[in-house]
Amino acid sequence: MLEIAELPVVDAHCHPFLNPGELSVEAFVDLVALGGGSQRFMEEGGLAFTSAVRTELQRVKRDTVYFRRLVRDLAAFFGVEPELDQVLERRNAAVRAGYRGYVGRLFRDAGIVTLIADMGYPQPPVDLATFRREVPAGVVPIFRIEPLIARLLAEDLGWPEFRRRFDESIANALQRDGYRGLKSVIAYRTGLDVSPLSRSPDQGLMAYDGVKRGLGGDAMKRLRDHLLCRALELCIEYDVPMQIHTGVGDVEINLPYCRPSYLMELLRFPAFRACRVVLVHSGYPYHREAAYMAHVLPRVYCDVSEGIPFAGHAAPALIREVLEMAPLSKVVYGSDGFALPELNYTAAKLAKQALGLALGQLVEEGMLSKTEAEEAAWLILAGTARRLYRLD
Ligand SMILES: [Zn+2]
Repeated sequence: MLEIAELPVVDAHCHPFLNPGELSVEAFVDLVALGGGSQRFMEEGGLAFTSAVRTELQRVKRDTVYFRRLVRDLAAFFGVEPELDQVLERRNAAVRAGYRGYVGRLFRDAGIVTLIADMGYPQPPVDLATFRREVPAGVVPIFRIEPLIARLLAEDLGWPEFRRRFDESIANALQRDGYRGLKSVIAYRTGLDVSPLSRSPDQGLMAYDGVKRGLGGDAMKRLRDHLLCRALELCIEYDVPMQIHTGVGDVEINLPYCRPSYLMELLRFPAFRACRVVLVHSGYPYHREAAYMAHVLPRVYCDVSEGIPFAGHAAPALIREVLEMAPLSKVVYGSDGFALPELNYTAAKLAKQALGLALGQLVEEGMLSKTEAEEAAWLILAGTARRLYRLD
């Protein structure tokens, strides 16, 4: 086991959150479990939300290994028994005494110094200035292209104007508003099987015309594919990384088309090779594909968010498996935290434990020296993200 508890952490993939105030046990469970919104999801399926159903959904969320671990981490932080009501009592008292101070204590304990935040979730967006005021850590915003696409589609624009506004909005975000990269969740929409030939201007024009005329078919997919290609070109132009969601996510994911391997043809295409691309979540559970791509494509990176923390005890194996092929300097830590800082906290604690175990084992097996393993831990937790997002 490598001793890395004191290392600083850059959380390279997470989402902004605001102070929700004091929380009931039920509200806390709803906010920190994957599968938020399950009440609406079930209601829309015709299920009446009785108190029995409410109890059932709460139990489902509390019965993951991830959730149990979260409670244990917070119990240790507060020095109480690992019982959710005791943890919540202490948490609410800490929030009452001052939210920013509480977040600061959590982040200091886990070593979290910087959050690289995809501002595209939640929607409507969290105000960046307020987020920065409430969180005592560096905040580096990332600009998600899908809300922009939705906004432009809602206006009745001609194609040249749509394209001009798309480019202009991204330019403003990156040059004026301090965003340090772009993000796409096309894996939640039409899938990752994006042909590099989608970059042709005529594909954009034809697809947009099809969408506007309500033709259906694959017009929307061809439009999204075209705009992803354009976003990659803009990332090259402005020299910022592109984050692409890969692998599983919430219930809306396009599950058959979320595998990183669907991106291979796009990312090895000559015009896109120069783009620095982060395969967000390393495509979990297809993380070996993402690791391979980080191996053979010089500017493709993996992050280990979402698998850590939501796959619970998978964390050490996940790190070991990603490092089978991905270079030590091309893997970044992230939490995929959202809604509450407790999520960023438990993810960082788990990642440090998992890195200590996985890298420690590589030292025991004679694969790395202790110094190399320590350097790898520093790179994964902070160093590579600092370089990638130019934090120095
Ligand atoms: Zn995310």
